[in-house]
Amino acid sequence: MSDNKIQGSGAAGGVQPVLVLNAGSSSLKYQLVVPETGEKQAGGTIERIGESGSDVADHSAALARMTDELRADGIDLRSVPLRAVGHRVVHGGPDFSEPVVIDDAVLDRVRELSALAPLHNPAAVTGIEAAREHFDVPHVAVFDTAFFSSLPPEASTYAVPRDLAEKHAIRRYGFHGTSHQWVSQAAAELLDRPLGELRQVILHLGNGCSASAVRGGVAVDTSMGLTPLQGLVMGTRSGDVDPGLHAYLGREAGLSLKEIDTLLNKKSGVLGLSGVNDFRELEKCLAGGDAEARLAFDVVVHRLKHYVGAYLAILGGIDVLVFTAGIGENSIALRAAVTEGLEGLGISIDRARNGARSKQARVISPQGSRVAVAVVPTNEELAIARQTAELVG
Ligand code: ADP
Repeated sequence: MSDNKIQGSGAAGGVQPVLVLNAGSSSLKYQLVVPETGEKQAGGTIERIGESGSDVADHSAALARMTDELRADGIDLRSVPLRAVGHRVVHGGPDFSEPVVIDDAVLDRVRELSALAPLHNPAAVTGIEAAREHFDVPHVAVFDTAFFSSLPPEASTYAVPRDLAEKHAIRRYGFHGTSHQWVSQAAAELLDRPLGELRQVILHLGNGCSASAVRGGVAVDTSMGLTPLQGLVMGTRSGDVDPGLHAYLGREAGLSLKEIDTLLNKKSGVLGLSGVNDFRELEKCLAGGDAEARLAFDVVVHRLKHYVGAYLAILGGIDVLVFTAGIGENSIALRAAVTEGLEGLGISIDRARNGARSKQARVISPQGSRVAVAVVPTNEELAIARQTAELVG
């Protein structure tokens, strides 16, 4: 029966799914996606990999677990005509501006880039190694930084000594690129306008948050930088702080660099301000009149407006403002707050449109607005599946 299910999709259009993998240090997210139709055949997350008391010892064991889960779902990977495996890789460094088919040299380079993404790239390497053992098909790396390799030098360069920047590959890389690219294309389709003529500001607001300025489908600025810590206020990340804070905390609070890094990445943001990091929780606290939650929300919104304004200036005006990811797609209150008071810039929303719940891409600005405000669901897995399929043919 399981064989029938898989071959059914094959027979329908001769299509083969791509397995999309997103390996974290202790988790493995997977989806089986048909690139052409966007059909998600299966998906799941294996958690607590390598943790004490967990029966998933490593990423190889996680792939075995995934195979079992898929079989329980009626999908036998030995008989599925798998086309390729697409791997999400966080940091492509200065090298990778496009997806690549993975060979030993690519894998070595991704491993070397771990200095730039010590929390992410080692896990991706481990995941890729295990998957290459398991699946004898082409493997493709899709980089979170790739879409932002187009940033002009004035946007990607930090004002630090040039020789040091060159030696250590210090520049603004940007992250969530797969999402920003996908959403910018989807917004153009939604508006039925050529991507090439649109100036867009895209707000990807999930657990991690980033903003981008996109001109004609090409990224010209983004809020994340050398690491995914810069920019917007996030669930547990501070986003922008005075760079002098590090020295101050070292001097006055006696914190080590490692402690400061953990503080700003894991204990700050919405969590640090309000005690909760999940935005739904924050909204509940807000509704209960919690003053700390109010401040956290206001700080999030203030920072967002800061970037919207900055990118309006960078782009010389915008045609579209797009909200995406968990918070952007779902928080009516946040979208209302970010756009409030921007009428003078041509940006406003229709209350009823903003308040309507939907999983579809939709316009929430009033009819005939100079700037379209849109909610566009992101789909990083499908984007990775399509880029993977395109590359392997
Ligand atoms: P990730 O970055 O892990 O992919 P998501 O894009 O799923 O994260 O976004 C997670 C965030 O979206 C969480 O803060 C969550 O609370 C928020 N979120 C999800 N649904 C809603 C909702 N209905 N209203 C407000 N926030 C939501």
